[in-house]
Amino acid sequence: MSQTTVGPRKVTERQNWTEATPEVLYDKCVTLANNLWWSWHPEVVNLFRDLDPIKWRKIDHNPVVLLAEMTAEQLAERASEMVLSTRINQAHRRLKEYLSKTRETWGARETGVLGSKPVAYFSAEFGIHESVPIYSGGLGVLSGDHIKAASGLGVPLVAVGLFYDQGYFEQQLDINGYQHEEYQDTHVQNLPMEPAIGVDGKQVTVSINTRDGVLLAKVWLMHVGRVPLYLLDCDVDGNNPQDRELTSRLYGGHLRTRIRQELVLGVGGVKALRALGIAPGVYHLNEGHSAFAPLEVVRERMADDGLTFDEALREIAHRTVFTTHTPVPAGHDRFDAGLIEEHLGPLRDKLSISPAQLMGLGRVEPQNEHEQFCMTVIGLKFSRRANAVSSLHGHISRRMWAHLWPWRVEEEIPIGHITNGVHVPTWLAHPMHQLYDRVLGGNWAQRMGDAKIWQNMYHCDPGELWETHNELKSRLLDFVRRRLGRQGRRRQEPDEVVEAARTALDPNALTIGFARRFATYKRADLFFRQLDEFATLINDPQRPVQLIFAGKAHPADEPGKQLIKKIENLRHDRRFAGRIVFIEDYDINVARHLVQGVDVWMNTPRRPKEASGTSGMKAVLNGGLNCSILDGWWAEAYNGKNGFAIGNGSQHVHDEITDQRDAQYLMQALRDQVIPLFYDRDVDGLPRHWIAMMIESITTLASRFSAHRMVIDYVRKCYLVAAGGLSSEMDRL
Ligand SMILES: *Cc1c(COP(=O)(O)O)cnc(C)c1O
Repeated sequence: MSQTTVGPRKVTERQNWTEATPEVLYDKCVTLANNLWWSWHPEVVNLFRDLDPIKWRKIDHNPVVLLAEMTAEQLAERASEMVLSTRINQAHRRLKEYLSKTRETWGARETGVLGSKPVAYFSAEFGIHESVPIYSGGLGVLSGDHIKAASGLGVPLVAVGLFYDQGYFEQQLDINGYQHEEYQDTHVQNLPMEPAIGVDGKQVTVSINTRDGVLLAKVWLMHVGRVPLYLLDCDVDGNNPQDRELTSRLYGGHLRTRIRQELVLGVGGVKALRALGIAPGVYHLNEGHSAFAPLEVVRERMADDGLTFDEALREIAHRTVFTTHTPVPAGHDRFDAGLIEEHLGPLRDKLSISPAQLMGLGRVEPQNEHEQFCMTVIGLKFSRRANAVSSLHGHISRRMWAHLWPWRVEEEIPIGHITNGVHVPTWLAHPMHQLYDRVLGGNWAQRMGDAKIWQNMYHCDPGELWETHNELKSRLLDFVRRRLGRQGRRRQEPDEVVEAARTALDPNALTIGFARRFATYKRADLFFRQLDEFATLINDPQRPVQLIFAGKAHPADEPGKQLIKKIENLRHDRRFAGRIVFIEDYDINVARHLVQGVDVWMNTPRRPKEASGTSGMKAVLNGGLNCSILDGWWAEAYNGKNGFAIGNGSQHVHDEITDQRDAQYLMQALRDQVIPLFYDRDVDGLPRHWIAMMIESITTLASRFSAHRMVIDYVRKCYLVAAGGLSSEMDRL
């Protein structure tokens, strides 16, 4: 507590005699850097950038590092050169206001029941900003967007995750196009993290008993606007050397590493909250990784209130919300009885249940000794409210887990859906934001969940929208050129190759973006099944097409790596040289540039394997048009005139036949719809019909697929019900 009183007092005293001493200015910048609120406020991002633009880029846009390498005097000098003081003061004031004005939020009005008993949101990864490498991809970005939106809405929520000091890997392609993985150490002092202080005034450390000894984890705190994010870290004195590295990397390779990470996240996470004096009213398990958590909550209830296991289980299940993200059976974590007993044995003793009973909780057929313990199964059994992440994924999940409720027909399987959404301030480019300010009115951001606001887009000046889009497209091309040059230099490519990067791509050509994890079901190669036809299509001199690819393959996914290699090497094929580029190291930064600047965002998953997908929603906000298989979110978003569909949403039982058909459909969509529409220009050179489609896309999709809407749905359909107490039965959303 002493820390919180010392900090502000220091500043106020100084303010009395002078506003702008270097130290005051510096302190304000530090305050800004220490709350990730800055990351979704372009004016604050630009402020940090303007302090040292070259370094800013070099250090991965990390303000903590930027400030550490600068004295207060240097900062003040730079601030006066660039006239930054006013901007610093304003940003600082806005942050203070944001943090103090919690009573005026939507959450304060609508989430009264939660009050002092917040939602505890568990996730194995959080993608908040590229400078905080504790995410690998879509799941993490979704969690990050969820907590940012909860912060904005003022929903009482605390988040729990793991701190990975090496994060996910950095991707580098060698001269042959083959992916290599690099792991960098991230130092705690370079991140906006502080020790999480417990009720005893010390940094919280939790200990978890296993049959094989004690596992320790210390707890860090990161501020994401109004939401505290607690991160558990096993690099603690007292752990053996192997365990100290347990949380170094996301999704550690072996099953034993995996179950230990999940033990720390779930069981350790619940213990951490208790040590912090936080008593959650609702537990939200985002994907199965954290599904051990309810077991520890049950233990607490039994110990504190003398409930039996069954009583405590029933009560805790009512307060638990579970979200599943995986429509592929193999994608769910499963462990055998040996690993379960080793890691949960001591907890099981306290729960007074037998090994067979515990295993039964993770099995579809509790008595089936051949069945492993599945994290999704325990997640479903332990939650009053369970949901998939798109309408189509809801159907798939109900079918997939129907045998858990054999007495019910499929429609009555208690798995509903809440479609994912994206955090608008994070993904919306500043120039588009300004355009919306002009067209939708100044306070549109507070009311963005209201579909009516977006109707004003129909009055938008097409020329202005097109100009804004082209400004963003040209920013994207600058970024791509810079990256290509850097990649070439690193690989020691010939000078002319590096030189050519400066002018790569054509700002007037139809530009298609494709970036995602290189899992085979995502079919990045669907383009190339008809290579000759495709080459002819994109090389029409009147109507050229170019493609920008990015994405990582899992280190163990050899087919994924071969796919990357194939695409990267197309640059040596005369028909594709200069028309297809691959940007290394897909992350939030690369994603932001791509979704903000492309004309078309392409998605070609093998239906129905894409649970939702969110990158296409980011493109919508910025005026990009989706061209996608009718899978995931697009199956419910596409209305015939707000983008393009590849195929008709059917699939064959044989993947090979599905793939062949979809490749045909893709060529048809490009040849008959996308390319002609883009190049259909009026006398002013404007593609009127294309722009109309951009407007239709924004108007019909922006509010529906925002994280704002998503979190409101979670509050209304899950959190409030879970916090409200008992009901006789699990029910569908
Ligand atoms: C948005 C995002 C994703 C998820 O997008 P998908 O559509 O699910 O592929 C993955 N990685 C990054 C870096 C993102 O920004």
